[in-house]
Amino acid sequence: AVRTRFAPSPSGQLHVGNLRTALFNWLLARHHRGTFVLRIEDSDAARSDAERIERLQGDLEWLGLGWDVGPGVDSPVAWQQSRRTDLHAEAAGRLRHMDAAYYCFCSTERLAALRERQKKAGHPPRYDGCCAGLDPVRSAERVAAGESAVLRLRMPAEGTLRFTDAVRGEQSFQAADLDDPIIQRADGSAAFLFANALDDALMGITHVLRGEDHLSNTPRQIVLLERLGQSVPVYGHLSLVVDDQGAPLSKRRGAPGVGTLRDEGVEPAAIANYLARLGNPAPADGLEPLDALAADFDVTRLSRRPVRFDRRQLDYWQSLAMAAAPVARLRSALQADCVPDDRVAAFIRLVQPNLRRADELNDWALRLFSRQSVLDGALEARLRTSGAVFFETLAGLLESAATADWKPLRAELEAATGRRGGALMKPLRQALTGLDHGPALGDIIHLMPADIRRLRLQQAAA
Ligand code: GLU
Repeated sequence: AVRTRFAPSPSGQLHVGNLRTALFNWLLARHHRGTFVLRIEDSDAARSDAERIERLQGDLEWLGLGWDVGPGVDSPVAWQQSRRTDLHAEAAGRLRHMDAAYYCFCSTERLAALRERQKKAGHPPRYDGCCAGLDPVRSAERVAAGESAVLRLRMPAEGTLRFTDAVRGEQSFQAADLDDPIIQRADGSAAFLFANALDDALMGITHVLRGEDHLSNTPRQIVLLERLGQSVPVYGHLSLVVDDQGAPLSKRRGAPGVGTLRDEGVEPAAIANYLARLGNPAPADGLEPLDALAADFDVTRLSRRPVRFDRRQLDYWQSLAMAAAPVARLRSALQADCVPDDRVAAFIRLVQPNLRRADELNDWALRLFSRQSVLDGALEARLRTSGAVFFETLAGLLESAATADWKPLRAELEAATGRRGGALMKPLRQALTGLDHGPALGDIIHLMPADIRRLRLQQAAA
């Protein structure tokens, strides 16, 4: 059975890049009717607190990404990395006893000098294996006597390390390029690379979808799990989401956080549908529920190239989500009290396709139902070119029209003003709503109370 996970470090607000990773893991699990685990990687104790974990949960829940294992479902040891230190320490001990890991006593000064030399020579920073040959018994004695040491994983000295990436296909790394990573810090805590892979294995994770920035960790994590006799998950590295300048999204560079988008009124369905298609050529192009997105999900189709976050695309999905939102959901966003009760539902249905966010209902409510003027200086000047007579004629006709049906009414308006098409509709729409675009004019006229219509046309004629 497929078991995926999202493993955020609770270091702040999720941004859309992280969220896409969460979504893809969720879609993969749901596609296979498998299990989705939310694991909180909070070993780095300084950055972790309960409030952040809660915010993260709230963001995922809001998007509709529920988890089968995680906060609120299981006891913390099942999902919170900082509660799993005993498991990590036990595995580290095992690696050391089988000599798959060794104590390293190199001082930070020595390592800094090493890096400096490598940098000058134009080489990437790389541990030189100074402590790899120490006698393990002697090293254990030194540590027992209080000397400070980290634990390093012994990587193969030569050969090629290969794995098949679920997204990017065959990957190979030269062992000579991969130094021995630290798996346990001097204070006994597990390093990211170690805790992350070990927890995946212990939690029975079968598939790991994560950012491309983790690709170089993977060969080391595979060696680690093999040494421990654990099964290795399928890894798939997702192309990074980049901004307009081509830089990976990050909170530091102002990538929109989930909470921010939510405060801006973006619908969860819009984000999910947009992110599900970011670097994923899904066949269907309408707004789809998460389950349908899951049914269609296929990691092998995912893009291997960076994908650009495009706010306009998100806005497009937002407009679809608004058009599809249930009236009851929108009604809760309506605060303006100028809409008569018996017209609220008709009003919402009418303006819904024009909404970019639910609370824009309030602006529409004022435009269609309030006595407050909708004209600004620029618009007044434009309307003046139509002449007062034009608007007075319209006002009179709307007052006395024999029919409320739009087609015959329009014919009457055309006949009375001698104008047709845009020359008639545009100034009329502007006078009534203060806008150039919106719902069908006939429907607006029908919905607006007669006294408001009259008032608007009088204001336009003034
Ligand atoms: N905590 C890691 C991160 O947020 C998880 C990486 C992974 O998914 O393996 O980047």
